[in-house]
Amino acid sequence: STVPLGGSVIPIVNKLQDIFAQLGSQSAIELPQVAVVGSQSSGKSSVLEALVGRDFLPRGNDICTRRPLVLQLLQTKTDEEYGEFLHLPGKRFYDFSEIRREIQSDLFLGISRATDGIEVGDIDILGKVLDMAQTDKEAGENRGVSDKQIRLKIFSPHVLDITLVDLPGITKVPVGEQPVDIEARIRTMIMSYIKQPSCLIIAVTPANSDLANSDALQIAGIADPDGYRTIGVISKLDIMDRGTDARNLLLGKVIPLRLGYVGVVNRSQEDIILNRSIKDALLAEEKFFRSRPVYNGLADRCGVPQLAKKLNQILVQHIKAILPGLKSRISTALVSVAKEHASYGEITESKAHLTPLYRTDVYLIFVLITCPNFVICRLVREL
Ligand code: GDP
Ligand code: MG
Repeated sequence: STVPLGGSVIPIVNKLQDIFAQLGSQSAIELPQVAVVGSQSSGKSSVLEALVGRDFLPRGNDICTRRPLVLQLLQTKTDEEYGEFLHLPGKRFYDFSEIRREIQSDLFLGISRATDGIEVGDIDILGKVLDMAQTDKEAGENRGVSDKQIRLKIFSPHVLDITLVDLPGITKVPVGEQPVDIEARIRTMIMSYIKQPSCLIIAVTPANSDLANSDALQIAGIADPDGYRTIGVISKLDIMDRGTDARNLLLGKVIPLRLGYVGVVNRSQEDIILNRSIKDALLAEEKFFRSRPVYNGLADRCGVPQLAKKLNQILVQHIKAILPGLKSRISTALVSVAKEHASYGEITESKAHLTPLYRTDVYLIFVLITCPNFVICRLVREL
């Protein structure tokens, strides 16, 4: 599959959501947010894209992410896949490269370029430009960084309802009109996301830099000192200095991390220019690891699919942890359904015909309550 994140967790979450939907409650399972941190150009956006399996984020050597991008994945029951921005309500983007252009015009190019091609009277775009003028004023016109979010929803049948946050990278030396305290500002902004106890942190460090100097691990360590929610990612394994490899990094021998590390190979700038697809990139990554004997025996720490698997396992743990709460909600609902059922007395037969909840679903709910590990066992086996 081209969409590794969520994979095996989707059916089980769906099943639970269906049960709760029948009980008249919407969002039963709130999954943790996932935020990506690291220094500029470490490969954060590339990792997020590969996890989602879609090309839609601006990537490059320059500062591409000027504002936090809050990416809400939302599962649909139809086959349609599209994106929608909060600042462009009602406008559906079916072409994912257009989503990138939209983010780029907003995050990167700045106001002058974004006004190109605007038709007179297009109030939506005009509003957006005014909004951007505001952002640019706040952020400084040239490569500034603003903590105002850009919010994008991706609707797809292949995703979990989960929120991913692509954060601006940590930079140290102000360029253009960036304020002198740019580093402190970015750090404060990143912290506001990752200090939340429910936020999973993907800390990206490029393999061609020193792990001991990793901005990602440093800031993740402040937000999550015990390392319960930080996954280390070592990117750019393909461009390490000749004669070196990341074996010891991945084994946690350099800086140990409770949840461990995953090494990845994302697309290079050349691949991006040549429009290489994510699918091809994943194949190339697999080939890379297969052809390097030094990574033999580390298969569970190598590649984007392994990162997705790690995340999925954490999500399963999370569901396990919230299961008792879900069960008590179901019991409460079941009791009130039973009471209502009893109050109908003789006419139950005709009511049951109208409301399917009284038949198979009561049984389903009953199974869920009486077999506490039934759901979870299946889940764990599927992983
Ligand atoms: P971000 O600033 O952390 O979001 O980094 P990006 O994802 O935008 O990547 C920055 C640049 O590094 C881009 O030109 C990517 O093509 C390149 N890049 C990212 N990951 C890798 C990798 O694993 N290998 C190679 N060769 N290039 C990479
Ligand atoms: Mg980025």
